[in-house]
Amino acid sequence: MTRRPPIFNSQFPVFNFQFLAFALGLLSLLAPQSRAATSSGYAIAKGVYCPNRISTPHFALEFSADPDDGAEYAALCERAYRHLSRVFTSAKGGPVWSGKCQVYLFATHAEFVRFAWNVHKSAAGVASGGYTRISKKDPAIVLFLREDDAVMSHQTLVHEMTHVFLGLFYKAAPLPTWVQEGCAQYFEFRYVPSRSRLALARQTTKKLVETGRYAPLREFSGRAFGPTDLPSYCQAWSLLDFLINGKAGSPARASQFIVLLKDGKPQDEALRVAYGTDFPRLEAAWKEYVLATYRRPLVLPRDDEAALKPISNGRGH
Ligand SMILES: [Zn+2]
Repeated sequence: MTRRPPIFNSQFPVFNFQFLAFALGLLSLLAPQSRAATSSGYAIAKGVYCPNRISTPHFALEFSADPDDGAEYAALCERAYRHLSRVFTSAKGGPVWSGKCQVYLFATHAEFVRFAWNVHKSAAGVASGGYTRISKKDPAIVLFLREDDAVMSHQTLVHEMTHVFLGLFYKAAPLPTWVQEGCAQYFEFRYVPSRSRLALARQTTKKLVETGRYAPLREFSGRAFGPTDLPSYCQAWSLLDFLINGKAGSPARASQFIVLLKDGKPQDEALRVAYGTDFPRLEAAWKEYVLATYRRPLVLPRDDEAALKPISNGRGH
C-alpha cells in the first residue's frame, strides 16, 4: 500500500494542472507581503482574504468571492457530503470528522498562495490551486476559484472534498493512490457530467486498454502517481467506476473494500473478501468492462439518484 506522507496533501484535480499557475504561484511567493504572517494565521484569513463566512451543518466556509457564489459553494459541500455518505454506507465509527471542515475559497490565485504560505506554512497545491488537510479534528480544504469557469471550480471542490471524506470516514487511515484519486475523480465527474471531463477519461481509458498501454493492476496498485500523469488518473477513475458500477460492483462493495484497506488488510485480501476476486481476474474483467461500456453512449451510473446537479443557473453555469 502506498502511504500518503504528509498531513497536507496536495490533491491535484486531474487535467487541471496549469504551468502558468505554477509561475504565478512563484511570483506571489516572491512578492512583498502586505501583512506579516501571524502564528494563528486566521486573522489573515478573516481580516484580509476571507471577509465572507457561511456555516452549514458540516462545513465552515470563509471566502473572498461574491457572497452569492459562496452560498452556492456551501450548498454544494453539503450535497456532496450527503452523496458520499450514501455511497459509503458501511461507514462505521461515528462522524466523519469532529466539528466542521474549514473551507477557504479565494477569488484570486495570489490570495490563495499567500494564505497557503502564511497560514498553513505550505507550498502544497501552488501549482494546482488546491490542497486539503486530512485531519479528523481539524479538516480543511483550500482552493482558489476559477471565476471564468464556475463548473470547474465546483468540480474541483467536489474532488477535494472527496479526498477529505475518504481519508477520514470509518477511521483516519491512508489509502493507495489509485483508490484516493480514482474516488476523487469518480465523484468529481458526477458533478455536471455533461460538462465534466468524463468523456475524455472514457476515451483515454478505452485507448489504453485497446493498445495494451494500461498499467498491469498488480503494479498499478502500488504506484504513487502525480497530477500530470493523465493515463494513471484515467485508469484509477475507471477502476473505481468498475468497482462501483461493473457487473460484480456496487457502492456497498466498494465501501467494504475501502474499509478493509483502512483496517490494514493487504489489497489482495481486501479484493478477495469484498469482491471474491484477485488482481489477475479483476484486470481481465475490468478490461472487458472498459471495451464494452466506454464504446456506448454515457449512461449515468446506478447510484445516480444522488448525482450532483448544478445548484442554480447563476453566473458561470
Ligand atoms: Zn486528487
